[in-house]
Amino acid sequence: MAKNKLHVRKGDNVVVIAGKDKGKRGKILQAFPKDLRVIVEGVNIVKRHTRPTQNLPQGGIIEREAAIHVSNVMPYCSKCGKGVRISKKQLADGKVVRACHKCGEVFDK
Ligand SMILES: [Zn+2]
Repeated sequence: MAKNKLHVRKGDNVVVIAGKDKGKRGKILQAFPKDLRVIVEGVNIVKRHTRPTQNLPQGGIIEREAAIHVSNVMPYCSKCGKGVRISKKQLADGKVVRACHKCGEVFDK
């Protein structure tokens, strides 16, 4: 695998395969290829106590997603109904896309 290249990217639907959120599914909100970490919607929620700010005058507890290691997620294939490995597939027009290793469902539209 090339450096700084993740097997998943922003906008992908992924399933968590390890950790406390194992089995959860969500969309990648942000990817950090350098750190090999991603932020997945609804996964690894952490509570943060904050001081009052202008945007949040009452302060308090904010819940937000924290990044998880990219090795803890797999691309989710809606056809297979589970996390799958990715394989490259060349389309008729020569474009190479990522597809489900099992059923060939194309992830890059
Ligand atoms: Zn599939």
